[in-house]
Amino acid sequence: MRPIQMVDLKLQYQKIKSEIDAAVMGVIESTAFINGPHVQRFADSLAAYNGSAHVIPCANGTDALQIAMMALGLEPGDEVITPSFTYIATTEVIALLRLKPVFVDVDPKTFCIDTDALQKAITPRTKAIVPVHLYGQAANMEAIMKIAAAHNLAVIEDNAQAIGSDYYFTDGTKVKTGSIGTVSGTSFFPSKNLGCYGDGGAIMTNDDALAAELKMVANHGQSRRYYHDVVGCNSRLDTIQAAILEIKLRHLDEYIDARIRVADAYDAAFAAHPKLTTPFRAAYGKHVFHQYTLLLEGVDRDGLVAHLAAQGVPSMIYYPVPAHRQKMFASFGGSAFDLPVTDWLTERVISLPIHTEMEDEQQQHIITSVLNYIN
Ligand SMILES: *Cc1c(COP(=O)(O)O)cnc(C)c1O
Repeated sequence: MRPIQMVDLKLQYQKIKSEIDAAVMGVIESTAFINGPHVQRFADSLAAYNGSAHVIPCANGTDALQIAMMALGLEPGDEVITPSFTYIATTEVIALLRLKPVFVDVDPKTFCIDTDALQKAITPRTKAIVPVHLYGQAANMEAIMKIAAAHNLAVIEDNAQAIGSDYYFTDGTKVKTGSIGTVSGTSFFPSKNLGCYGDGGAIMTNDDALAAELKMVANHGQSRRYYHDVVGCNSRLDTIQAAILEIKLRHLDEYIDARIRVADAYDAAFAAHPKLTTPFRAAYGKHVFHQYTLLLEGVDRDGLVAHLAAQGVPSMIYYPVPAHRQKMFASFGGSAFDLPVTDWLTERVISLPIHTEMEDEQQQHIITSVLNYIN
């Protein structure tokens, strides 16, 4: 049996090696390292795939969120509603721009923003909402968009963990996550569902005027070379990464199917166990399983992690400390927020290996190792 990893990037690469190697060498031969033709071509393919009118590539997923907030013209002191149960990047950029993060609780089933809590957190100073499609499960976008429309709020989807996920509105319309809000950000960090071989990210929107603003902010605030209209930043996707992503995008749907097959097999093994809650799959969306995260009840989590490690099974806690309890947010009144579901989840989640190259033998070993400890 091959060693088990949280994500097996090597085997995935080997399957497309000749194509990737040729593309990377082609970029090197061309020396078009910055803004080479692959960058726009990849952006166009991703726009078509995602049903978004505009895709603006950038340096990483954190920048994508930051640029979105800058281009929307959010100003210091504006309130931005966000879950605390997320990767730190979501909330950090809010604080970095001197906006005010307003942390709200998550739904105990989907682990995504609780729409009742969201509604209650709105004040006259609220300007934007950042729903996170956590672990590959979409937030309840239909409800979120209704609330946003009623209060004239921008919606910035954090789609870093859910690229390729389908969302179904009650009228039957099917769209991709990241094409629903005012704007969305995604990440091509290597372990993400669409990962490159370094850092990368993208911003998406259907709003033409906002797209122009986003491009400008990502490029030193210029729309014409050497004329800088607004304070921006320098955030680009390398041509080499774009060339790799162009190839990998063609495999994204099959990568998602592979992840769902792994999740199905875990569900079949764990669903009936009284101490385990398997991931909820909301009827409004297609869970794309960036993570496979179990909820433990009455299980010593540290003990389980150590037991798994001894069996050669890696596991991770995403995330051991929610944003509102991070020192970073002490001066923003972080721990004063009362988020019981977030705290409850933080103590109980554990993520198991899931990726596109899982072998049956490996997965069986993971399942047996988990069950041996908790039974
Ligand atoms: C990975 C991730 C990001 C940030 O992406 P980077 O490319 O690492 O900057 C933002 N939000 C969430 C939810 C993520 O998982």
